[in-house]
Amino acid sequence: MPSSGRHYDAVIVGARCAGAATAMLLARKGLRVLLLDRGTYGSETLSTHALMRGAVLQLARWGLVPRLLAAGTPPIRSTSFHYGADELRIAVKPGDGVDALFAPRRSVLDAILVDAAVEAGAELRHGETVLGLVQEGARVTGAISLDAQGRRRESSADLVIGADGVGSTVARLAGAPMLREARHATATAFGYWSGVGTEGYHWHYVPGAGVGAIPTNAGLHCVFVSVPPETYRTTLRGAPMAGFEALLRAVSPALAERVGHGSRAGAISVFAGRRGFFRRPAGPGWALVGDAGYFKDPLTAHGITDALRDAELLADAVTAGTEAAFAAYGAARDALSMPLFEATDAIASFEWDLATLQDLHKALNQAMKQEVAHMLAGGGAPVQEAA
Ligand SMILES: Cc1cc2nc3c(=O)[nH]c(=O)nc-3n(C[C@H](O)[C@H](O)[C@H](O)COP(=O)(O)OP(=O)(O)OC[C@H]3O[C@@H](n4cnc5c(N)ncnc54)[C@H](O)[C@@H]3O)c2cc1C
Repeated sequence: MPSSGRHYDAVIVGARCAGAATAMLLARKGLRVLLLDRGTYGSETLSTHALMRGAVLQLARWGLVPRLLAAGTPPIRSTSFHYGADELRIAVKPGDGVDALFAPRRSVLDAILVDAAVEAGAELRHGETVLGLVQEGARVTGAISLDAQGRRRESSADLVIGADGVGSTVARLAGAPMLREARHATATAFGYWSGVGTEGYHWHYVPGAGVGAIPTNAGLHCVFVSVPPETYRTTLRGAPMAGFEALLRAVSPALAERVGHGSRAGAISVFAGRRGFFRRPAGPGWALVGDAGYFKDPLTAHGITDALRDAELLADAVTAGTEAAFAAYGAARDALSMPLFEATDAIASFEWDLATLQDLHKALNQAMKQEVAHMLAGGGAPVQEAA
């Protein structure tokens, strides 16, 4: 079998927010990194892409916020929670390099991270699918892939990192044990409209459903509905557009009216739901980052923030290179994630009244503050912002 001829410090499988960020950080530390993805550069994926403060903090520290702005990503300066008819508006507090939040399309965000990884020296190959791992005894020593020309390749590495999403091939082949699973999973449907005209994030809730509007690139709003599995079966499955409009009207007639006056760009995307989980994040010669290692229901819009946070935790462990450092990576991931995971699972149950939901949002907010404090305490010096 042809080998890629080089030995890498790390082969990273998956070149989106988790994998590309990890590749960038490792390459910036001078490591030899190969970044592989079976998909194409700058493509979309199933995600409503709202970034929380921790994600923007990471992008600011990595010097990438000017690129978001250059791509026309609108700054988001407030989040409004609508509990039935009551609105709670929270302004984004400027500080630590975060003046606003952003919700870049994944074609924008993932491409920015991939470009930064390549500029830092990572080798990138899209259209290449990892099919197997090379092992010496229990230790993973490389990856076997099929490249864009259909050739099988073997790449040897000190570490193979699975950043390959919820269905992670690396996790499966390395035998990463499942540590914990969530109890609930919601369905999400979303689409894009111009002319909605709202500013900031808007999240609306009534018992049994949530909807929201997220300003994104090209003057569009991403408008979504989140529902429990029964509502997905009765209302969305089979007729997503009609179900989407009915749910939007039922939860927020005001948002439905704004959306009704706008123009839809493209079809409605539907995610039927998947229960969250934690997998063991590292073992001999392998590690997991992003959704490959830890996934939670998307209705709290925090997966990208987790991925950018954990990319740095993992990069620090790789640089230290000891078993203790990888154990510390897992411990930090779990300590920071568990409160988010538990509050998300409780919200995803849809077994709440609006007062309980507000308490769950307060718990989430507290967990996000801890996350940001951890990033600020442990993070390296800010790099000079690139144009
Ligand atoms: C409906 C929905 C809405 C969401 N909304 C939000 C939100 O508003 N905010 C937020 O923060 N998060 C949101 N999320 C979560 C967020 O999208 C994920 O947490 C995030 O995409 C995880 O990034 P990742 O890089 O770990 O994995 P992914 O984005 O899944 O990327 C994995 C990559 O690995 C590649 N890959 C997989 N297998 C292989 C292989 N064998 N060989 C080579 N390449 C491979 C894939 O091609 C893919 O490019 C949402 C998720 C869903 C489903």
